[in-house]
Amino acid sequence: MDLATTGKDIERVIVTEEQIRLRLKELAVQVEKDYEGRDLLLIGVLKGAVMTMADFARSLQRHIEMDWMAVSSYGSGTKSSGVVRILKDLDRDITGREVVIVEDIVDTGLTLGWLKANLESRGAKSVEILTMLRKPEAAKVEVDVKYVGFDIPTEFVVGYGLDFNEKYRNLDFIGVLAKHMYS
Ligand code: 5GP
Repeated sequence: MDLATTGKDIERVIVTEEQIRLRLKELAVQVEKDYEGRDLLLIGVLKGAVMTMADFARSLQRHIEMDWMAVSSYGSGTKSSGVVRILKDLDRDITGREVVIVEDIVDTGLTLGWLKANLESRGAKSVEILTMLRKPEAAKVEVDVKYVGFDIPTEFVVGYGLDFNEKYRNLDFIGVLAKHMYS
């Protein structure tokens, strides 16, 4: 779904479809280089990372494997607390695997910090993180995000997998949700 169809729900566009495509290609080249001659298992975090995973994986000119997890962070209101519950676990054992977690957005980084530690504790050989978006808050926590699509301001964004009440995931761009949509 494009901006013309979305209408007044979106205050402004943060990242266009074209910018996403070009940035994912750059990240793919970087990952291909870093993982040359190495195994690569991409682990997507449902549901937000679906679009990033689909497009990033197809940008890679090499074989990969893909698995998925769904987690829910407990928190008060819109703030995540770092307490995470697994809703859907991986299908396979990851002992000895070289893992890249694929995420939509890092806000506080608490969810990803937990997830990275969890995957490392299962015996993965390495665990790195790729995220389409990163907010400034993420800089405050001890989670090392190796591959970042775009650094964005602290605003609530939707589109390209990111939702508001399960809506807007299918926008082909990323935009700031108009304030009137909250009320
Ligand atoms: P944190 O990094 O704070 O632990 O949590 C990250 C999660 O919060 C993301 O996976 C996403 O589900 C949600 N989130 C954080 N910022 C935004 C945003 O601007 N828009 C949307 N739709 N979700 C967000």
